[in-house]
Amino acid sequence: MLNDLIERNVRWAEQRNREEPGYFARLATQQSPEFFWIGCSDSRVPANVVAGLDPGEVFVHRNVANVIHSTDMNMLSALEFAVEALKIREIIVCGHYGCGGVKAATEDLPHGLADHWLEPIRRLARAYAVDLSREDSAESRRDKLAELNVVEGVRRVAETPIMQRAWRNGVSVRIHGLIYGLKDGRLRDLDCTVGPGHFQMEAAQ
Ligand code: ZN
Repeated sequence: MLNDLIERNVRWAEQRNREEPGYFARLATQQSPEFFWIGCSDSRVPANVVAGLDPGEVFVHRNVANVIHSTDMNMLSALEFAVEALKIREIIVCGHYGCGGVKAATEDLPHGLADHWLEPIRRLARAYAVDLSREDSAESRRDKLAELNVVEGVRRVAETPIMQRAWRNGVSVRIHGLIYGLKDGRLRDLDCTVGPGHFQMEAAQ
């Protein structure tokens, strides 16, 4: 299995270099991605592939069910590096329909450590129980919850001291919430974008 993977890599690298001579030499010296993607670890939602972007074009952080924990040093370190070192100005929190992590959060079954990780989604499900009950199937309730998890993720990223500092310093970085459909391969904008105004708005209140 591993040999197959390495052979595929050799074929890919050779083909890429044939199509664009000097491609790897150029990428090796610098990365200047335009996007920072925070998404689910699900193997069916690879950031580069679904967004049609090449290596070097998107900086990526992924975890189970794209949960934003305000104390997650891994996510915070990647966010800080993206905003302050790479100067990325478009951040995307991307969830997906049919998310196994969101499903696990709605089940009354023990999942070990994942139950701790998924707690923010359980909390969202409780907070929006009335809205979710209006959905006509368990699948559409989970998909609605996946959308709510993205909107909440955007809000939580916006509240980090990293983003507040960037906006206070006049950096025009924005955070968008998208959701990906496994069944049709399409990304949808959840219209919950926040930008520099978010800091001013919060400060004015
Ligand atoms: Zn998922």
